[in-house]
Amino acid sequence: MKALMKWESGAGHVALRETERPVPGPDEVLIRVAAAGICGTDIKIWHGTTWSNPPVILGHEYSGVVVGLGRNVTGLQPGDRVVSETAQVVCGKCAYCRSGRELMCDRRLSIGYGVNGIHRCAAGHCPQDTGQPGL
Ligand SMILES: [Zn+2]
Ligand SMILES: [Zn+2]
Repeated sequence: MKALMKWESGAGHVALRETERPVPGPDEVLIRVAAAGICGTDIKIWHGTTWSNPPVILGHEYSGVVVGLGRNVTGLQPGDRVVSETAQVVCGKCAYCRSGRELMCDRRLSIGYGVNGIHRCAAGHCPQDTGQPGL
């Protein structure tokens, strides 16, 4: 599986790299991405003008379908359609977290720049394989 990866801090250092197919952890789900966006944050990461945590797979805005569940996951099932919530790691203790505003947590690690994101593709589906423009 290929992934759009920022492999080093600074300007550039973004390319498609081989990576393992993700396996959901006990509290995670595996999502088949149906549509993904590239936003200003992705461009800033590419240009090295905002923080990222390389090596990291880019991509944090998407919609998709649940295709796998970790053993502790409840309330979702394969086939459910979902959209992104980017904060994967938060402290759970600060005022923001306790009030349901985890996206403001100072310790937040979001998908696509704090931890691995969603810009991944199986063989035959990458832009370079399909003739569609890529980064
Ligand atoms: Zn964004
Ligand atoms: Zn917090």
